Amino acid sequence: MTVPGGPWPGHFGLEAAIFRSHPAVMPASYPPARSDVSLHFGQLLAASRGYRDGSGVVLFPEQLSVDVRSTRQAFGVVFLDRLHQLFLTRVLPVMEEHTFTAAERKELGELRRRAFLAHEWGHLQGADLEAAVLTRRRCLVAVISELHADLDALVMLLDNPDDKAAATAKVLVADRIVREAWLRRPHAQVDAIAARQLLVLLVKVGAVTLGGSGRLSLNVAAARGRLDEELARVRELEQACCTAGVEPALQYPRASGWAVVDSACYRELESPIARFLGYAASRSVTAA
Ligand SMILES: [Zn+2]
Repeated sequence: MTVPGGPWPGHFGLEAAIFRSHPAVMPASYPPARSDVSLHFGQLLAASRGYRDGSGVVLFPEQLSVDVRSTRQAFGVVFLDRLHQLFLTRVLPVMEEHTFTAAERKELGELRRRAFLAHEWGHLQGADLEAAVLTRRRCLVAVISELHADLDALVMLLDNPDDKAAATAKVLVADRIVREAWLRRPHAQVDAIAARQLLVLLVKVGAVTLGGSGRLSLNVAAARGRLDEELARVRELEQACCTAGVEPALQYPRASGWAVVDSACYRELESPIARFLGYAASRSVTAA
């Protein structure tokens, strides 16, 4: 496969990866979705150095040599162990000790898997827009789709009686706001823009605070009502995007305080929580 990145901008390197894979299956406690999740989890067996040493967690369908190409698959293969590793090294050290119980810390790998699948479950609730994203590939429409997937996933998890659901919601939120909100190009990367919007929502209702040690403390359940409210708003927007194109997706971030130019979306976050997370992310980038 050819992958972007390397010693100079615009460089594409030739890389190889050997992996074992199995189809991803939704946890039985998640409500039935309109269609099955269409992705595989992989375990990396060997890879050339550029891929092995990078932080890539996904092989996209266009990077795979296959007989029949799926038309609706967003990912080819997801390396869960790499996602888990990123959580342990980048996210967990930023959280207050009490955020996860001793029992939850022991099963963070499983909770990360469930959090990933909850987000995918959220995407399956917005199948109409998925089609729109695939056909238009518009950045701002994709941001709405990402935010919708997270909001739907979080509301589902907070209402779910399963004993792992609350901890799964914490993992999903923590990974988004600690790691993805600070990706290297936060004005252009869809995940980063959606994650920053989620962070703003959660901070406003006190679901994310700084604890006694100065690290992050989560009370996702406190945001249940606000998340549901925003979910209704984002769902409406999705429908509007399907009929009216990109304009509604443009108005949403602008109304929420973002600077939007073409498909770039930028918002400097001013709260002490955001300053702490920005600082933590810059240190982890330097250390990487
Ligand atoms: Zn997504």
